[in-house]
Order: sequence, then structure tokens, then C-alpha cells
Amino acid sequence: MIHLWCINKSHDYLGMEIQEIKSKLTLAVVLNYYHLKPDKNLRLNCPFHKDKTPSLQLYYKTHTCFCFSSNCKTHGKAMDVIDFIMYKESCTKHEAIMKAKEMIGGGTSKPMKELSKTVILTKIFTYFKNGVHNSKPTKAYLESRCLDFTKTEVGYNSGQFHYKLSGGDGAIKEYVRCGLLLELGTNSRFGKPAYKPFGKHCIVFPLRNHKEEIVSLYFRSIHNDKKQRHFYLKGREGLYPKYPTTATKKLILTESIIDAASLIEQAKIKSQYEILSLYGTNGLTEEHQKAIKKIKDLEEIIFFLNGDTPGIKAVEKYAPMLKGMLPDTKITSVEVPEGEDVNSLLQSHSAEILSHLIETRKEYDFLFSSEKSNEKEKVEIPQKQEEKIKEKPITKGLDTSNPYNLKYSSNIASYQIKGFRISQPDSLKITLQITAQ
Ligand SMILES: [Zn+2]
Repeated sequence: MIHLWCINKSHDYLGMEIQEIKSKLTLAVVLNYYHLKPDKNLRLNCPFHKDKTPSLQLYYKTHTCFCFSSNCKTHGKAMDVIDFIMYKESCTKHEAIMKAKEMIGGGTSKPMKELSKTVILTKIFTYFKNGVHNSKPTKAYLESRCLDFTKTEVGYNSGQFHYKLSGGDGAIKEYVRCGLLLELGTNSRFGKPAYKPFGKHCIVFPLRNHKEEIVSLYFRSIHNDKKQRHFYLKGREGLYPKYPTTATKKLILTESIIDAASLIEQAKIKSQYEILSLYGTNGLTEEHQKAIKKIKDLEEIIFFLNGDTPGIKAVEKYAPMLKGMLPDTKITSVEVPEGEDVNSLLQSHSAEILSHLIETRKEYDFLFSSEKSNEKEKVEIPQKQEEKIKEKPITKGLDTSNPYNLKYSSNIASYQIKGFRISQPDSLKITLQITAQ
């Protein structure tokens, strides 16, 4: 009799625990833990039977999945996160619960700090991704930047996550530790601790480690606040979009994450080049260097930085550094029209201009640049970068100093005709921009 009572009690306890785990552990986190990536239709090649076509359907709303194959040992039964772990580990339910706790961040068998940060950021990024669908201003902003959220993994932070996501006080502590929430002392009206969400009203991009796990986030304000537009979580690490594969032959470096995303969306470019974002003109970090060094037979590094003085100076600083690191690798640079960058070109021209500029890139001239000053700049990355406001001197009359951007200024308005050199003379694409004075 006593024995029976014990079993019942532990059963109830377990039931509560399962509910708590389910409220904290998303299916996306479990999949990420096992390095499983669903396709566009949220399907996977089922890991529980020999599966040539993706038969496992995922349901992110309910955090369950279902295998449609009749050859599957799970067949006919929907799986929740704990069932999934149980099948994946071939273990008992109790062991699966322990493993689930570890994924949430309470376990001890893995280095806790790294695991839980990845888990938290993966969970919150999934939440941010859903936020794009519900926000009209975000969709409009992405459209204005020529970014397609069905192609690019991007989220939106409305600043409500700490109210909307479950997890209680424990989760709040985790958000504070990861830098997602900033402590603001105590709320004077209720005497409770007050928090400010980091990167509110920003679009969000994930930064990944060498295992392609999310280890940090980059936020970009959708409002054009001139003071501050770019935010990285404290303790920035990881690369965007990910570490280049070791089989990479040609690697394009961009100045910003949005520039990298803009290039990756172009199927033709993506098929020919691996793309990696720097974190601004001072942002070729040690982590970038390590990742680049790991590529075995890297043939070429292509700088595709902004067409302005900081962009040009960054190439002058980093090209010799990379050449010293990889003497057999060709270093080239894309000639970017003055005042433009990858994303601005995409906004004002058809996408072909990007391929065209890449194809006409030039080998970096080390002889020419070594004649210039050899000032040693600190390769240090500010945590928060501020976009510099480009100030262009206005030349009255016709300015032909940049053949791809003809300018004419009068007292009433200024006109810019932006075009680009094309190999076939049967078409010419130009953009006319008129700014009233
Ligand atoms: Zn299956």
C-alpha cells in the first residue's frame, strides 16, 4: 500500500515536470541541438527510420512532429519534444526528461554556460522570426532594404518577448545574463525589478559558431535613428551568416550583415561564392581570421566593402594582413561606385549590378598601397557601432568625377544619374535621383 502511494506521488511529480519542460523547451531548440535542419515546408528526413524523402512533419505551433512513413517505429503517433529526445537517444522517458532539462540549461553534463546561451538565443530567435509575420512596419522596412524574409533568416524584436514567452523568473534571469534584458532598478509604482528589452524595434540576425549554433544576435533599428542603429549583444561572438565551409574556394567579405544578406539572396552569386560579413570597417575580428585560416584551399578573398573612404581604408588595412596569413590566396577588391554599398546598389539598381561588379573585380595592388602610409591601426571592435552620416560635398553644376554617378546641382534641386558599365551594349540601366534643395 505504501509502495503504491509512492509510485503515484512520483507520477504526479513527473507530470508537473513534463508540463514545465514543455513550456520552456521549443521544438526548434531540440532540432538545433541535434543539428537537424527542416526544409521550407518544415519537413525533415525522419531520423527514426531510413528516410529518403522528408517524411517527418514539424509543427512549431504545438512543438510536436509526426512521421508519415509506415516504415517508422513512431508511425501513427505525434511526438512532443520529450518523445523526440527519447527516440533520438534510444532512452527511457525518464532519461529523456533529464536530457530535456539539460537542453533548457539546468543540466550538468555539458558546459553549462555555452549550452544554455545557445538554447536561449535559439529560442528567442525563433520567436523573433515569427514577429516579422505580424509586423507590417517590419515587412515594409525589409522591402525598402530589398530583403526577402522568405529567403533570409531574419527576426523582429517588438520588445515584448519577456512578457510573451513563458519561463517565469528563471527566464528573466537568463535574458539578463545574455544581455537581452537590461536591468533598470526597481519599478517605483510596484516595487518590482524593472527591465528594458535590448534592441527594441530592431530587425534581428543570428550570429553562429563553428557548429552553426546561434551564439549571438545583431540588431538593426527599423527607425532611422541617427544616433544609434546597430546593436550587438554583449560579448559578441559568432559569424554571419555562418563559418565558411572548409571547401570554400572564393570568399566575399562584406562590410555589414545586411550587405551579406543582400548578396546571399542572389542565387547566382550564392552558387559561386561563399559570403562572410565583417562587423564594420574595423570588424575583421580574430574569430573571422581563425575561420578563414581553417579553409584548406582558399583561392581568393574578395573585398566588397563600401564605396567610401572608411571602406577603402579597411581594404588597405586588411588586404596585406590576409595576404600575410595566406600567401597563396589571391586578394581582390570590388570597385564600388562612390557613396554606395551592396545594399544601396540593390535598392537603386537591378540586382544584376552586383554580379557585374563582382565579375569586374580587380586584384589588390600591394605595390601601390605600400607606398601609402603604413599607419598601424588597432584592430579593435567597438561593441556598438554607429553608422556615419555620409556628407558629400555639393559641387554646383555638372560633376562628372564619378563616371557611374553623374551629379548636377542647381539652387532648386540636385540630380544624380546612377548607372553602370555593362559588357553588352544592347541595354543600359540607369537611375535618376532628384533631391529638392
Ligand atoms: Zn520516421
